[in-house]
Amino acid sequence: MPEGRRRLGRKPGSGPRHDAKDQRHRSDSAPEGRRRDERPPAPPPPPAARATDEPGLPTATVLVKAKRARPFFGRHPWVLDTAIDRVEGTPADGDVVDLATHEGRFIARGIWNASSRLRVRLYAFESDVPLDAPFWRSRIDAAIALRRTLGLDDRSGAARLINSEGDDLSGLVVDRYGDHLAIQVTGLAMAGRLDAICDALEAAVKPAGILLRGADRGLSKLEGLHLPDRVIRGTAPEGPVFIREGSLSWGVDLTEGQKTGFYLDQRENRRAAALLARDRRVLDLFCYSGGFAVTCAITGSARSVLAVDGSAKATALARANADFNGAANVAVETADAFARIDSLAATGEKFGMVILDPPKFARSRGAIEEALRAYHRINRVAVDLLEPGGILVSCSCSGSVSRDDFLEMLSAVAQRSGRQIAMLECRGAAPDHPVSASCLEGEYLKCVIARVA
Ligand code: SAH
Repeated sequence: MPEGRRRLGRKPGSGPRHDAKDQRHRSDSAPEGRRRDERPPAPPPPPAARATDEPGLPTATVLVKAKRARPFFGRHPWVLDTAIDRVEGTPADGDVVDLATHEGRFIARGIWNASSRLRVRLYAFESDVPLDAPFWRSRIDAAIALRRTLGLDDRSGAARLINSEGDDLSGLVVDRYGDHLAIQVTGLAMAGRLDAICDALEAAVKPAGILLRGADRGLSKLEGLHLPDRVIRGTAPEGPVFIREGSLSWGVDLTEGQKTGFYLDQRENRRAAALLARDRRVLDLFCYSGGFAVTCAITGSARSVLAVDGSAKATALARANADFNGAANVAVETADAFARIDSLAATGEKFGMVILDPPKFARSRGAIEEALRAYHRINRVAVDLLEPGGILVSCSCSGSVSRDDFLEMLSAVAQRSGRQIAMLECRGAAPDHPVSASCLEGEYLKCVIARVA
């Protein structure tokens, strides 16, 4: 049975939804006497059967602590357990709940998950909007319309169609690779609504297939989610999907690849780096499937490129992408980047451009210092490898390392190396990865392009 239906289509009166509704109208469920006295006489409860037949309506009210409501009036979509004063009702995980001030004033509507510290994800800030299938559809349509505005609706290319909080769909990421969609679910709220989400995606983009990817790793564990990778709709591609970006083609492995298959967030940064790569000897450390390496070789007319990644699967993809695009001057090596960069420095090798795009070094706030030390170490050696006037392209995808911290790290590298580092561009993720101003936690990618004297 489709997930969405299973979760939302409970039989009238058969579960917590029914109990919660009842409880909300029982005067003895209000924990504070003041509230109980001030309330007008409770209207007769609506028939429980009606409530259960209307998916998207709240089964409980979550009241935030005094003085903790402000971020939610500012549309921040994450309600942590520590912000909650009490819950009126007994919502099941995945149920729609209303968020209210501790006096009971409506703030927003969201979805409950007691298995996560992020207890409620908020989706609507109006009290008359049910979180039902038409609601998800309109959010998804709006996200897809934005990609059309950005000129990213070419069916031979790839784009991020939905970027979680950046598209007001917390916990949901959808990437389009040609005719296929890859979905990443990081919130239980979205896992229970995959059916409605896939219906909306099918109506809007008519994909050949929809695959669920990466859902059981990392963040999803924090949500009590166990969704194995699988094909949800249509068919999986046979072999890699080929996508076009400008004059380049990339083979993307949708079933085994990292992320949902390709680093779409670096699209514009690869082009910006390539603009400065002409006639240079380029080192692309942490190359994955060769995104920067091949763009610099072909679009940027680099003299030669050495691409290094620790994963043999990644370097096989990079080799294939280099060959496929006719980039004969790209050498690909499988090696640990830290050891390889040291060995290059030890033998006095010099490059005209060094690209550093390491994996997330800081997985939590506590790991920031350690991450900054690792960034410092590779950037410090990268600067040594650069000939005078060389270009450093230095990235960080650790969301918990702030842009300021990252720039401070580069400042320390300049100081230690005695080289002038002139920052030409401080870039972020591609525009199909919008960041909500109400949820700056969505900003993670930094890409500094600098000239090192
Ligand atoms: N620049 C790439 C994305 C890089 S993602 C692009 O634009 O597509 C980070 C990569 O670092 C991954 O491919 C991962 O396999 C690699 N990696 C992680 N740890 C590594 C290490 N110690 N040495 C070398 N590569 C490593």
